[in-house]
Amino acid sequence: ATPTALLVGTGRAARLGVVIKGPEVLESTRTLDTVVLDKTGTVTQGRMTLDLEASWQLRPPQPRQPLSPETLVLVGALESASEHPVAAAVTSAARGCTDALPAVEDFRSHEGQGVTGRVAERYAAAGRPGWLAQLGAPLPEALRQAVVEAEETGATVVALAVEHPHGTGLEAVAVLAVRDTLRPSSPGAVASLRDLGLRPVLLTGDNARAATHVAAQVGIAQDDVVSEVLPADKHDVVADLQARGAVVGMVGDGVNDAAALAQAGTRGLGMAMGSGTDVAIEAADIILVRPDLDAVVAAVRVSRATLRVIR
Ligand code: ADP
Ligand code: MG
Repeated sequence: ATPTALLVGTGRAARLGVVIKGPEVLESTRTLDTVVLDKTGTVTQGRMTLDLEASWQLRPPQPRQPLSPETLVLVGALESASEHPVAAAVTSAARGCTDALPAVEDFRSHEGQGVTGRVAERYAAAGRPGWLAQLGAPLPEALRQAVVEAEETGATVVALAVEHPHGTGLEAVAVLAVRDTLRPSSPGAVASLRDLGLRPVLLTGDNARAATHVAAQVGIAQDDVVSEVLPADKHDVVADLQARGAVVGMVGDGVNDAAALAQAGTRGLGMAMGSGTDVAIEAADIILVRPDLDAVVAAVRVSRATLRVIR
């Protein structure tokens, strides 16, 4: 490959909104056979909103009831210190119910799981239902059913547990359903990647049911969905694919994708959404200026065209 041709290819990519960190990246793009797509913020917009109609709380002995403004304000306060898109959805809905959210003390963020802290003197935890169970607050049956209903339609569920007033530990009391929107271009882009001979894989920390729902919407096979992956383990999923011979292009946006993007770059490519976090952008070889998977398709086409001409 002549340097001039590679520069021309790099320029052509740039005009399509694909910023390449060095001309050699075009060569790696040409060899890809697998594209690992992060779900939240990559395949979807990553702008989540609370679905009140699918959010419930328990006040025994009654059956489940709609979420009350008081409960929403409590979760919103707890989540206000978190930067996760799930937290933003809850906090923004809660701000609509009150002039000022109560303060949080002893706040802690548990990566890929949820948050804990003290609101109005009460210790509380909000996060993945499975994580709350690990903390000793499994969901009662009536709420478990609500979780299945919400997740099957693609929602992410935030469960809330609060410390019992008389010190008998955490108790799960509510579930909040949060929904993301698919990027409209994602199904078409996934189909194009397939037409180019690439295998799309969906990778997410989110629950299996929501992941399967999104995969079906964009046309990714059930066998190519890897869900409930902790942030630290996304890297290992990419390394495993590589160990089995794949040349992986990984597309992501989050802090939790950075290690996986860098790993993909060792024998393939890391691609970051331009709308993503700085850490992801730094770890990647390619930046997609338009936050859109069509740019991945464009990158593959340009690299193939460029390297075909100069061979
Ligand atoms: P993703 O791969 O979808 O970006 P993460 O690894 O960041 O996901 O998080 C995995 C899951 O952990 C989320 O889908 C959510 O259920 C839960 N979670 C993470 N952070 C929070 C939070 N601040 N509040 C509630 N749940 C959270
Ligand atoms: Mg993401």
